[in-house]
Amino acid sequence: MIGVFALQGAFIEHEHMLSELGEPWKEIRRREHFTDGLDGLILPGGESTVQGKLLKEEGLFLPVKAAIEGGMPVFGTCAGMILLAKKRANDPNSYFDVLGVTVTRNAYGRQLGSFRTDLAVKGIGQFPAVFIRAPYADRAEEGVEVLAETGGKIVAARQKNVLATAFHPELTSDLRFHAYFAEMVRRWQSTTTN
Ligand code: GLN
Repeated sequence: MIGVFALQGAFIEHEHMLSELGEPWKEIRRREHFTDGLDGLILPGGESTVQGKLLKEEGLFLPVKAAIEGGMPVFGTCAGMILLAKKRANDPNSYFDVLGVTVTRNAYGRQLGSFRTDLAVKGIGQFPAVFIRAPYADRAEEGVEVLAETGGKIVAARQKNVLATAFHPELTSDLRFHAYFAEMVRRWQSTTTN
């Protein structure tokens, strides 16, 4: 069962993608929703400062951080990537800090920063990427696998159980990113049930 963080932002689109893939999911809004039976978590796009604040207010922040550090797969898109990054160039707050990159919020400009481009994604292939007031990342630490770059900046990356995109695969009809994440979840399930 994959949890979808559903307090703010574009979470419904992720739920549609998981349903299309036949993956069971549930919404995570409060502490009691984040139970032991979860095999993965999606952090959607939205407003990272608001999401970070809500996660902390709902008492979800520490248990989710512990689960990620324990190896549970997590997939963050856009604001979700900002919450996962170890450093933020233009936000002094601290969040999950598990993906060894530095992100810059609203890196393409605040209002005109939305665009679509085809990206070559390692392990997936050409992918239609939708950017909405997106961050980009740079300064990848050792251990970070850069999955896609554009304009010399990192826009998709993985570090072990942590997958992140600056863009929104859930706003396309292309299921391959979610299928890639579902495969990470399956591998994790097989290590935890054996
Ligand atoms: N600009 C937003 C932030 O900084 C992220 C935008 C998005 O998730 N589409 O949190």
